[in-house]
Amino acid sequence: RKCINQIERTRFLNAYITITEEQAMEQAQRADDRLRTGKPLGSLDGIPFSVKDNFCTENIETTCASIMLKGYVPPFNATVVQKLLDQGAVLIGKNNLDEFAMGSGSTDGAFGPVRNPWSYAASYREQSRGDPDSDWVIAGGSSGGSAAAVASLSSFLALGSDTGGSTRNPGSLCGVVALKPTYGLVSRHGLIPLVNSMDVPGILTRSVHDAAIVLRTLQGQDEKDSTTVQAQSTPHSIPEDFDIRDMCVGLPKEYHAPDLSKETLAQWSRVADMFEKAGARVREVSLPHTQHSIVCYHVLCCCEVASNMARFDGLEYGHRSAVDSSTDAMYATTRHEGFNNVVRRRALSGNYFLLKQNYERYFVKAQQIRRLIAEDFKRVFSSGVDVLLTPTTLSDATRYSDFIQEDNRTRSTQDDIFTQPVNMAGLPAITLPTGISHRGLPISLQLIGQTLQDWKLLTVAHWLE
Ligand code: GLN
Repeated sequence: RKCINQIERTRFLNAYITITEEQAMEQAQRADDRLRTGKPLGSLDGIPFSVKDNFCTENIETTCASIMLKGYVPPFNATVVQKLLDQGAVLIGKNNLDEFAMGSGSTDGAFGPVRNPWSYAASYREQSRGDPDSDWVIAGGSSGGSAAAVASLSSFLALGSDTGGSTRNPGSLCGVVALKPTYGLVSRHGLIPLVNSMDVPGILTRSVHDAAIVLRTLQGQDEKDSTTVQAQSTPHSIPEDFDIRDMCVGLPKEYHAPDLSKETLAQWSRVADMFEKAGARVREVSLPHTQHSIVCYHVLCCCEVASNMARFDGLEYGHRSAVDSSTDAMYATTRHEGFNNVVRRRALSGNYFLLKQNYERYFVKAQQIRRLIAEDFKRVFSSGVDVLLTPTTLSDATRYSDFIQEDNRTRSTQDDIFTQPVNMAGLPAITLPTGISHRGLPISLQLIGQTLQDWKLLTVAHWLE
């Protein structure tokens, strides 16, 4: 009830597209009864959670923040949603996002932008001295609704998706813990795809410990997602007997991006020093292909988008245009009416890259560069580095009015520079808040681990927390 009330109180954040109050109250009642008799369903019995609106939820509208899917009610739950429900967790709502998870601001959904809860914190308002209605900062994206929900305390845990940073970016700007597991460790079944070869369900929580509990629940092979792998044996909780002096922390020199804010850089150095003082080995490493990652990502992303969006033809589900002069005209107007500019632009670019005469030049080339990016990480990890410490975003959260300027759109894609390479390599990464900027907004850092070493990553993050 408190969570539902908090959703109501923070309606202006626009963090939720759908609130499932009635169902939630019934589920919560049943959880209460079980807990009273001392027979909980599982470790999450009675814990309220919310889910980004690109995960299918049985009998609950799933829109991807797009006109195209308005009114679409899936007949099944995504595996991750089902697993949480099976543990007794209570679904309270579906979170807002960028349309089809394309974006880094949560400003591009059909139901309006998400506001960062920190815009209303005294620390920010004192600094900005502006009108909170025009001076608010973005929540980051594309899982901005999920991050804002956890940050504004309406949800204890939220699921996001992470294709190029979409869980870590908003988690970082909203000051919460955001975990992107190893690709394949958590099932994508029921997650409406953006880039199938990079998509991973993400976990947003208030603490690293909570993220670990959720990962334990979600991880493992799923017969409905052939890319999933068996989880290695995992500890019941984060080990406490861990010694930071056994760790080697790498600082990738290419992550000193020209647009990196002084404050984020200072934060990065401060935390690196902290590791060193505690006895960890800290050393500079090189990931030489980093500079190509944004361009490479966008080619691959658009190609997969072109293929994924083909299913939205006005026939099977979602929106259908009234224009019926021909099948082609119906397809075209349905897509024109149903998708925003970002989605249409990517589908169009992807189809261009995939043309017979362009395929080798763009798609195959990008695949080759992707391999080089992944090999950079492999080399660094096999040289004895346990985790990499990097910034997550270039700076603290941008003002909405600045973010939506066209020039800044280019900057916003640059903002993914620290997160995208990780998806191309399929690695686990976690971000957590480590400080506060002079504007009173959170600054977070990212830890990147080796494939399937998600628990080691959580252990180091817990030490840092
Ligand atoms: N910002 C990136 C994009 O727009 C990543 C999105 C994501 O991770 N879903 O594609």
